[in-house]
Amino acid sequence: KFDFAGKTAIVTGAASGIGAAIALELGKSGACVIVSDLDDGGAQNVADAIKAAGGTAHGFEADVSDDDEMAALVDFAVKKGGGLHMAVNNAGIAGPMALLADYPVDGWRHVIDVNLHGVFYGMRRQIPAMLKSGGGSIVNMSSILGSVGFLNASAYTASKHAVVGMTKAAAMEYAPQGIRINSVGPAFIDTPLLTNNLEAELLSQVSSLHPVGRMGTSEEVSALTCFLLSDRAGFITGSYHLVDGGYTAQ
Ligand code: NAD
Repeated sequence: KFDFAGKTAIVTGAASGIGAAIALELGKSGACVIVSDLDDGGAQNVADAIKAAGGTAHGFEADVSDDDEMAALVDFAVKKGGGLHMAVNNAGIAGPMALLADYPVDGWRHVIDVNLHGVFYGMRRQIPAMLKSGGGSIVNMSSILGSVGFLNASAYTASKHAVVGMTKAAAMEYAPQGIRINSVGPAFIDTPLLTNNLEAELLSQVSSLHPVGRMGTSEEVSALTCFLLSDRAGFITGSYHLVDGGYTAQ
């Protein structure tokens, strides 16, 4: 078990799937967790689950693709938690599935706004608050599609590659001031993002795409993320960490 007592964490996209699992693990490990999502009711439910487990949490409705709302989220976290020490920029969408030449321009922009600009808007507010708090650790949720491509997912693939690159640049910039920034690359994880967006036929084949023969769980992504957030990962920054059941080893 990790010990995050006395630390405050923001998790975006925390009402569901991977973000909810991370928020729960941080909360059960002593952090004050700001559970943020577009889905306010879902965020409050996860905050309530943390409190029911004896932890400290607050729900906060915010759209990561809105710069002002990311500023408000960080202000809220600092007010409630007395500072900011950890952030997980996890909110993301799959977007439309289509070949590049057929890809709807609105859909493309939406994917980039949430998956890429959302991480930028988040980090540009989190970093100054962490500097005032004496340092911190950020994890940005990429994907295996941060290093390989996938049919009919050019916008998502582009956004997740960009998150890996932005993470590297930001990590170099803030390492001297005690802020570590890493990205995480999950393969297919059993969450609503997958079950709501993949066609039934593709979904039935997804397990076999991984050498381990199954999809991953949100808890397995949370375990890696919490390690990277923790002081035990003190020499790890600017890198991209796979949790992929061997998918990209093939
Ligand atoms: P999910 O759909 O279960 O949860 C995503 C959450 O993000 C939802 O609660 C949703 O309301 C929220 N969200 C969406 N747009 C938002 C916005 N603009 N502002 C704030 N919140 C917003 O998805 P998940 O599978 O848990 O995905 C979490 C992250 O992990 C995403 O970045 C996704 O790209 C990434 N990821 C998922 C998989 C997978 O197979 N599930 C694989 C690799 C990477």
